[in-house]
Amino acid sequence: MPLSPDALRESLPMARAARDPRPGLSGVPLTGLVAWLAERAEPVYRSRQIADALWRSGATDVDAVATLPPALRAALREAFRWDTVADTELRIADGGLTEKALHRLSDGALVESVLMHYPARPGQRARHTLCISSQAGCAVGCPFCATGELGFTRDLETAEIVDQVRQAARRLAPDGRRLTNVVFMGMGEPLLNLDAVLEAVGALADPARFGLGARHVTVSTSGVVPGIRRLTALGPQFTLAVSLHAARDALRDVLVPLNRRWPVREVVGAAREHAAATGRRITYEVTMIGGINDTDADADALVDLLRGDHAHVNLIPMNAVAHTPWQASPMPLIERFAARLRGAGISTTVRRNRGQEIGAACGQLAAERAGEPAAPAVARRRERLVRESAAGLRGERSADPAPAGAGR
Ligand code: SAH
Ligand code: SF4
Repeated sequence: MPLSPDALRESLPMARAARDPRPGLSGVPLTGLVAWLAERAEPVYRSRQIADALWRSGATDVDAVATLPPALRAALREAFRWDTVADTELRIADGGLTEKALHRLSDGALVESVLMHYPARPGQRARHTLCISSQAGCAVGCPFCATGELGFTRDLETAEIVDQVRQAARRLAPDGRRLTNVVFMGMGEPLLNLDAVLEAVGALADPARFGLGARHVTVSTSGVVPGIRRLTALGPQFTLAVSLHAARDALRDVLVPLNRRWPVREVVGAAREHAAATGRRITYEVTMIGGINDTDADADALVDLLRGDHAHVNLIPMNAVAHTPWQASPMPLIERFAARLRGAGISTTVRRNRGQEIGAACGQLAAERAGEPAAPAVARRRERLVRESAAGLRGERSADPAPAGAGR
């Protein structure tokens, strides 16, 4: 039976082969590697040689690691994968300042990372920030987000998260450049894959492995309250960013469907406790959507919500993505919104979009690969969003439950 366009679309982007059962080596903790070597009666110093090759040499295959004897290389190849993200397609934009990579995982799932270069300025060194994915797709389903429209495919393994970073570091190394910041703002909801994300941050922050200070890692969440509480109990692990987008529940129910499970005051309450317990300032993100969340009343509601908090707000013009009825708020309106927040004592920055011409909003490339859904489905989606956002703007709470699978 021929597949319907929708079913075909489902089957295309993530066309799933069997997953490679070997774990990625970069996700194996040092203790695990030492134990594996001990089973083979290999000396402990081999773990250091393997870690050096993995994290510092730029070797793209275990066979290129000349410091290891051939038999050990063969055993490593049999037990582990050297790289878990492959077949990268690279797109460059902004005169070379933005590089977007599409990664294919062993089962065919696609994820994205974006490398952004910020040239040196007086008093500030050059920065190279990598935005990475924590899941293939996302179950939260924010309607302005290309990943949200794709839906959830699967969690990434620790190594699949970390290898996006190793791959970008390898691209920088020949010019003597190093990554300065890693942000979990690509595909997926990191706090719904928290074990793997914590292990990945551990590997990135460990001086014996990637060696990036934990302060240089930011994890962004759409507001998974139990995940925020778990982080608070662990103590400072990284900078926490919370995607707010709206201070009022009725509108946030539409923009961040997870709000139907954990309403905005609960999210901000958990973030406040996190800031108090860790001494680390919370960053709040607001994607600015024209005519939806950019009025003076929205700014004032945000001021009320965050009054007195140790917080910073980032205003981000919405990146144009297909299949939404919306676009970015005009820049003067965003500046006005920022001024209103600053006037109330809330530290605020306006972020510029990067990589518009290469579809750098998270999930856009993978969505492109997914193919165009049938026109009637797109029209229905647009109509539904217009209807739901209008109800949200009138202050009517959504009766729909939170998306299935997003509140595990
Ligand atoms: N799931 C997490 C992290 C990934 S999304 C979260 O939602 O926080 C990272 C950021 O990109 C979020 O703040 C999200 O709202 C924003 N984003 C998604 N689509 C966007 C778009 N089309 N334009 C601008 N920002 C977008
Ligand atoms: Fe998921 Fe974040 Fe996109 Fe929302 S904005 S759908 S939480 S990736």
